[in-house]
Amino acid sequence: MTDFDDLLAANRTYAEQFAIGGFDGIAHAGVAIVTCMDSRIDPLNMLGLSAGDAKIFRNPGGRVTDAALEALVLGVHLLNVNRILVVPHTRCAMASNSEAELHERVGQSAGQDASWQRFNVVEDQVAALEEDVHRVRAHPLIPASVRVGGFVYDVDTGLLDQKY
Ligand SMILES: [Zn+2]
Repeated sequence: MTDFDDLLAANRTYAEQFAIGGFDGIAHAGVAIVTCMDSRIDPLNMLGLSAGDAKIFRNPGGRVTDAALEALVLGVHLLNVNRILVVPHTRCAMASNSEAELHERVGQSAGQDASWQRFNVVEDQVAALEEDVHRVRAHPLIPASVRVGGFVYDVDTGLLDQKY
């Protein structure tokens, strides 16, 4: 039971200052964010938000997958979301490797064939973003009153660039 001891110790320190117990789970700022799992992205801080303000859905590449749409529909109808940001980022591994390259790299790390594992790579990041924003706007359960924007986050400057 030592694999997570450092993190559990940090968690006990966190809990000592914990002030948001009994809080509801709605998005108090009305914001939902779909972004990449990349550790350089700090979704709340980059928008001046804090815990309780936003629903956040992350995956490799920050893509609007079926699971992301599931989260957004719940967010809009049950959790107070009225603005949605789709946020891929510069220097994303999912946009700078081909699926064959990822198979090769993961296969080498794993010491076995990885070609059966699907990786949702992006060939043209801005075109994929347009498609993803359209998927959200066109969803029959997401009303037109919900504002949807597509942005690219620059991991070197911290700035968001709105594309759609
Ligand atoms: Zn990424």
